[in-house]
Amino acid sequence: MLSFNQRIIRILLGGIIITATVILFVVWSAATNLVKTQTGESLEIASTVLNETLIERQNQLLTAAHVLTADFGFIQALATQDADTLQSALGNHAGRIGADILFTINSNYSMTCSVSPCFDYNGMLRDQTFIENIYSTGGTQAYRFLDGQLYQLIMLPVKKAGVTQIAGVGFKLDDIFLRRLSQVVHSEIMIVLGSNSQPEAVIASSLTQLTTMTVLQGSQSLNWIDVTLQQTSGYMVRAALTGGSLPDGINVYIAHDVRPVLDQFLDLQLNVLLMALSGIALALAVGMYQARKLSEPVDQLLAAAHNIARGDYTQSVTIDANVSELAHFATTFEKMQVQIRERETRIRYQAEHDALTGMINRARAEVMVNEKLQNSRSFQVLAIKVVGFRTINDLYGYANGDFCIKTLSTRLLRWPGICARLSGGEILYIPDEPLEEIQLETLRLILEQPIERSTLIIPVKIQIAEIWCPQNIDDAEDVFRKINIIFDEAYRSNRWLVRYETSLEEQYLRRLSIITELKQSLAADGDELSMVYQPKLALRTMQVVSMEALIRWNNAKLGFVPPDEFIGIAEKAGLIEQVSQWVIRRTIRELAEFRRAGYTFTVAINLSSQDIQNEALLTMMSRTLEEHGLTPADLALEITESDLLADARQASETLSRLKEAGHKLAIDDFGTGYSSLAYLKNLPVDTLKIDKSFVLNLSNDTDDQRIVHTVLSLAAIFELNVIAEGVEDEQALNILQDWGCTMAQGYYISKPQSVKDMLLWLKRTPYLKQQAEKVPATH
Ligand code: C2E
Ligand code: CA
Ligand code: CA
Repeated sequence: MLSFNQRIIRILLGGIIITATVILFVVWSAATNLVKTQTGESLEIASTVLNETLIERQNQLLTAAHVLTADFGFIQALATQDADTLQSALGNHAGRIGADILFTINSNYSMTCSVSPCFDYNGMLRDQTFIENIYSTGGTQAYRFLDGQLYQLIMLPVKKAGVTQIAGVGFKLDDIFLRRLSQVVHSEIMIVLGSNSQPEAVIASSLTQLTTMTVLQGSQSLNWIDVTLQQTSGYMVRAALTGGSLPDGINVYIAHDVRPVLDQFLDLQLNVLLMALSGIALALAVGMYQARKLSEPVDQLLAAAHNIARGDYTQSVTIDANVSELAHFATTFEKMQVQIRERETRIRYQAEHDALTGMINRARAEVMVNEKLQNSRSFQVLAIKVVGFRTINDLYGYANGDFCIKTLSTRLLRWPGICARLSGGEILYIPDEPLEEIQLETLRLILEQPIERSTLIIPVKIQIAEIWCPQNIDDAEDVFRKINIIFDEAYRSNRWLVRYETSLEEQYLRRLSIITELKQSLAADGDELSMVYQPKLALRTMQVVSMEALIRWNNAKLGFVPPDEFIGIAEKAGLIEQVSQWVIRRTIRELAEFRRAGYTFTVAINLSSQDIQNEALLTMMSRTLEEHGLTPADLALEITESDLLADARQASETLSRLKEAGHKLAIDDFGTGYSSLAYLKNLPVDTLKIDKSFVLNLSNDTDDQRIVHTVLSLAAIFELNVIAEGVEDEQALNILQDWGCTMAQGYYISKPQSVKDMLLWLKRTPYLKQQAEKVPATH
């Protein structure tokens, strides 16, 4: 493939060569034609001159002959045949007119006298008709071969004083004469036997014999190119004296060498050639320069295109061209590059930034944290989480949720350091200088300022996770993972600031495996999960009036996991509904078993606050009771105090419904939260369950005694039943009985046991002897 440059030069060169050739050819053919016509004209003139010269000479001869024939002395000498006188007379005349021959012929056709050289006239003398003609015409002019030489002859009759003779005067037409003549006519003259196309012999010529033959033969095919280029001579030939009285087969030709004329034009042609060549050279140089000027910017554009293709848009496209199209091309390229660059910057910006806050995003933060981790200097990573950001969105709408995040980011961005939005309500903050706890407290206060938007005031709560890098950190991914663990702990423990510790990770991992394993156990519905029952004793009658159903989980991988641990996790992991479903089904089934065994006590299950708000679950609960021929009165519900506080109004409504349906409701873990009895009184509950933490040491801890006593007194005023759990000794039981506590539950009475064991225990226990005997087992 040809380059742009080569192609331009090729076109240029082709054009120039064609033009130059055409010019040269035109000049050459014009010159040739001019030479042809000029030479033709010269030959024409030469032919006329030759003709006239010969006529001149003929007249001269004629005059000389007349003078001779009128000369009395000569006539007398003829008459007297005086040889000496004749000889001298002829000699004188010949000398005077410069004739080559002079002679007389008598009537007997024999030579009477002649001026030397002596030659053979016989041929002529034998031609009697010719001689007689002379007499009849009174003289003749002719060309005749005499003794192998061509002569121009004048023959006149001499008829005077009884003399009848013929006098002849002749000029030799030989090489010398023709050479002289050629100088007069400015042409070569050739007398030839035969035609110029087929010359047989050269009679006489102004040129040499050989040249004459060459000229005659060459004239047939005069090659102008050869003549022009090889500088050989070239003759143009033309017949002369045509129609004259030349002897048969004899022709006179005049020839003109075109060479000298052509030479005049040769200079011109040479000049034109030279000019054409220098034109070509010049045009080539200019062409190459122009081609370079054209191809250079094209190459530059090509290089720019390559750069762009390689993804390098930073090189500016400057080309050295004053061709408007190319310049336009370059500016278009430049523009395109700028646009690509802009677009790339925009895309990169979008890829690295959070659209809402303008902070860098998680992906970019990951890169930056990794970079920071490279240079082992220690730095503090803080993650800030808006607590319940989802709830803010749900409650106030997404526009307000966005506004919250935006406001928080504006507040945070005033603090020096790197800020990145990790997800919905999570922001990463790497301060330039590590923040002490007191500064963190300030930051928290600033961030937690309620957010105002028109008439709305949105309260925000934040939690801060703190990790020190690069200790114990692999990479950014690890940082993010640990932030999750910290926030998990913050959520679990409800603290606003949690620092990373390795133990968190273990706990987290355990929580993770608890979730996974619990899901599996629930799905399998095997014997990993089970229910145990712990009796509640009515302290007035000392009879078992209820049983608390407590879940047990014995996992193949994790071993025994106490419900205190996994119930909380299940609540946070959204698994509690499934757990409660399982508990409800299993407990009701086993309650039916107790009924079949003849026991009338109620069974209490523990429900979490999420369950209370779960209509579907509550519906399922009542349906299951129905299925087993039981009523809500058979199933008591224990709900933790702190759970109820979270959404008291809704809880209150649901609880009312449940109570109306017939369920007995108890507030569990009473005393551990902040609720006052006065408040609880408004709830549709009938029983308080004092948490075991106040009961376990009741026999010897006076503080606990005071608390329990107060609770019992107040409950009496508000007409609430009270259960004490965690009764481990007789003394505690007695105290409670003395103070009017309604019910007691604890290891002292019985540990929680499976249905099977409980059925056995019920048979033996002094707290339920009569009932079991009274009621038939078939019930
Ligand atoms: P809770 O409702 O306060 O249950 C009472 C806990 O105290 C039970 O622990 C019980 O075994 C224990 N306990 C009873 N008497 C004594 C005693 O004399 N001394 C001592 N030291 N402890 C005693 P458990 O079964 O480990 O349950 C712990 C917690 O787990 C329960 O506290 C309850 O909040 C939750 N839980 C248990 N089963 C279920 C369930 O089926 N559903 C739900 N939602 N939560 C459950
Ligand atoms: Ca309970
Ligand atoms: Ca408790």
